Amino acid sequence: MRKKRRLVWHLFPSYLLITIFSLVAVTWYATEALQRFYLNQTQQDLQARAHLLEKQIISLLSPLDAEVVDAICKELGQLSATRITVILPDGAVIGDSRDTPRFMDNHANREEVVAALGGGIGKSMRYSNTLQQRMMYVAVPLMKADRVVVVVRTSVSVSSLDEAMNSIRLKIALGVLVIALLAAGVSFYISRRISQPIERIREGAQHFSSGNLAHRLPAVGVEEMAGLAEALNRMAVQLDDRLKTVVRQRNELEAVLSSMLEGVAAVDQNELIIRMNQAAGRMFDCDPSDATGRHIQEVIRNLALQRFVLGALSSGKAVEDDFIVYRGGERVLNVRCSPLFDASNRQIGTLLVISDVTQLRHLENVRSDFVANVSHEIKTPLTAIKGFVETLQQGSVDRREEQERFLDIVLKHVNRLHAILEDLLSLSRIEQENDQNEIQLENGSIKKVVQTAVQVCQPKAAEKNIEVRLDCPAEIATRIDATLLEQALVNLIDNAINYSEQGSTVQVRADRKDSEVIIDITDQGPGIHSRHLPRLFERFYRIDKARSRKLGGTGLGLAIVKHIVQAHGGHVSVDSTLGKGSTFTIHLPA
Ligand code: ADP
Repeated sequence: MRKKRRLVWHLFPSYLLITIFSLVAVTWYATEALQRFYLNQTQQDLQARAHLLEKQIISLLSPLDAEVVDAICKELGQLSATRITVILPDGAVIGDSRDTPRFMDNHANREEVVAALGGGIGKSMRYSNTLQQRMMYVAVPLMKADRVVVVVRTSVSVSSLDEAMNSIRLKIALGVLVIALLAAGVSFYISRRISQPIERIREGAQHFSSGNLAHRLPAVGVEEMAGLAEALNRMAVQLDDRLKTVVRQRNELEAVLSSMLEGVAAVDQNELIIRMNQAAGRMFDCDPSDATGRHIQEVIRNLALQRFVLGALSSGKAVEDDFIVYRGGERVLNVRCSPLFDASNRQIGTLLVISDVTQLRHLENVRSDFVANVSHEIKTPLTAIKGFVETLQQGSVDRREEQERFLDIVLKHVNRLHAILEDLLSLSRIEQENDQNEIQLENGSIKKVVQTAVQVCQPKAAEKNIEVRLDCPAEIATRIDATLLEQALVNLIDNAINYSEQGSTVQVRADRKDSEVIIDITDQGPGIHSRHLPRLFERFYRIDKARSRKLGGTGLGLAIVKHIVQAHGGHVSVDSTLGKGSTFTIHLPA
């Protein structure tokens, strides 16, 4: 690109050129006029002198007295410092104030003589070889009966005029030079005065464009410039205000978006991401600031979800669906797409609101599973009871021992139903009391509670010849509901005994670690496969249903433990190795 010149270098040379051009033009015109005037005067003077000679010369023509004519020419020529030449119509010179006519050329072809012979007054200006000077000639015809009888030519040197004119021109040129220098100074000063405020406005505009809107332009100089500076200052103030508002609004929006738990992503009609928040970035496993402007295929790596968004874009309708994605395990995302409109109500894309509903869907599943499980758990003993009671009713079982066996079976199922209902009731009671904050926690000794629980389980342990070891410092105490905690411990110790082989050991250990009280129940049982661990504390979740039932389990024991511990503000965990045994741990806040 051509380098741009500064305004002063546009104005200054233009001013200077105009000034010099005007000066030269005026000077040239003046000197030309002066020269013309001077030459005109000289010409008229020469003409007058020629006319003065007329009468004397005519009287000497008939008869022709060339010598006298020549003598007159010489005399008058000397007196008037004029060269006088008398020429006959054939061009022969008969008198001349400087030379001898005899030796002079024929003058018929001289420009001024030709004109005079034609009856007019001849004028000419040329360099004379005879005199080695520039001369002005005027030739006047003397007429007799409408016939030119002789031509009187007067001439003077105009070299002195040329010299005078040259000296005038030189003086004028010097004057012009001085004036030009002055004009240069003045035009530079004026140019600077015009360009400086513009320069300042340009600098100010540069400040504004580089984001420094606090800069202010001085409103000085001519009215237009001061007005322009003020207008620019006002514009900067307004721009600053608007920018601050936009930045504030953007920050607010950013804060709202980034603190949302739901993922939010805006996609334009060209399937490019306009914007997404942090939560959406986490869900799609990408950097939200990096995602802007990228195609959804690059960002959303789930094919079904991509198709869903494309469908929402083309239909322009609000749609909703669940999608399963894998991000450190299976997650269920609920995605709602609603059309995105601009200020003029034109659809420009779609807005995705994504919620991680893994937990919710899991709870829903657990709930529906629970209903199915409860029904199933109750139905099995009820069917058995119904069958046996009907058989007994029909009276087809005569033998007393048989009847007693049947009744024993019925009783066993009734007990089972009772156990299930007991466990369900205690579960819902714990849940309810916990929800309503009705569980009263008091500072109590852990050792006491653990000892009681072990005692409760002792008979069963003795039956299987299992040793239950207890290791619990007496001083450990925390806020507990002793009855509930005992129930939880009984459930865990009971399970440990139930699922352990004859003659093994169950270790119950309590300790204080950091800000927790920890109670471990470790058995040497079969252990639990890791795939069961995440669901182990769900209601009715059992690894081996038949075995659990045989042992009188309801499948609710661990769920009750979990709820009791949660009611204490703690949590329960399990660590197990197949074939080696399991450790269930209750963590209570100390
Ligand atoms: P249940 O009444 O069937 O024992 P729980 O809720 O107490 O129900 O336990 C759920 C399941 O966890 C049991 O069916 C069993 O398969 C498994 N389980 C519980 N405790 C142990 C343990 N100590 N060792 C091995 N498996 C266990």
